[in-house]
Amino acid sequence: MTAVAAQAPAKVNVHLAVGPLRPDGFHELRTVYLAVSLFDTVTVRPGDGLALTVSGEGTGPPGGADLVPTDRRNLVWRAAELLAASAGVGADATIEIAKSIPAAAGLAGGSADAAAALVALDALWGTRASREDLAGLAAQLGSDVPFSLLGGVARGAGRGERLTPVLARTTWHWVLGIAGEGLSTPAVYGELDRLRAAGRVPDGRDLPAAEPVIAALRSGPTAVLAASLANDLQAPALALRPGLARALRAATEAGAAAALVSGSGPTVAALADDERDALRLTAALAGAGVFRTVRAVHGPVPGARLV
Ligand code: ATP
Repeated sequence: MTAVAAQAPAKVNVHLAVGPLRPDGFHELRTVYLAVSLFDTVTVRPGDGLALTVSGEGTGPPGGADLVPTDRRNLVWRAAELLAASAGVGADATIEIAKSIPAAAGLAGGSADAAAALVALDALWGTRASREDLAGLAAQLGSDVPFSLLGGVARGAGRGERLTPVLARTTWHWVLGIAGEGLSTPAVYGELDRLRAAGRVPDGRDLPAAEPVIAALRSGPTAVLAASLANDLQAPALALRPGLARALRAATEAGAAAALVSGSGPTVAALADDERDALRLTAALAGAGVFRTVRAVHGPVPGARLV
């Protein structure tokens, strides 16, 4: 076998309720993930030991090449070592990550790469891991990795890694407004804890139910989905990046049905009525001067798979 490629999607959390800090340092989450049509591709080839290269979005200036490490700090490297150890094979592969998902953007780009790597390396090494085996490894790699593997729509509990798939046949159109500089996910959670300690946002003891947003995702209409979107990380992301308020306003002024921060930010996810409206919104937001890049996407789309 010479080369195997797999792709995995970015995600938007259409519902992200964050509970209080747990003793293990994580927060208990109730979330609803939606996989959207922005994909990273991981290509693997036979090698001697592990070697990793990264190209594409968020890997060069102004993001800075060091944003995505090419050593053991890269989640893909750890995915390779974990799969090799669990299958009892040597961790030997040359791995190329082609990024379309910007790094540190709240879109789970690193998680997508790890999920794609598990699928591609499983095929390259002939480890024949079941989907459940891969999901177990994914949960050890990071909170969002199991969803990057699964795709579609899913509820997430625990750190986000305990998934329940949701059937939602409706396709939703979004415009992602991507900022020039990323936000660190731990920093955003830390800011949420500070805002809560200061009594400036609710303490998270009562986690709101995800049912309304799930019902809206299943059947719409857009206005109902728009009204049910919520993200507890939006307030801390705004506190750390005050310019985000202008970006959210630009999206609603451009006629988005709703705009929210994606995950820990700073990407803004603007909900469109349909594909045509998404194209119109894309043009309007590209001209607004508040985003580095603007991308029209749709979801749900499948999780990590061979291409
Ligand atoms: P999430 O929404 O899952 O919390 P994110 O989408 O905001 O995360 P990622 O792009 O997943 O952020 O990456 C966050 C950090 O993880 C980066 O700053 C980088 O140092 C590190 N990282 C490790 N591996 C990768 C990878 N393959 N791609 C991008 N970042 C990676």
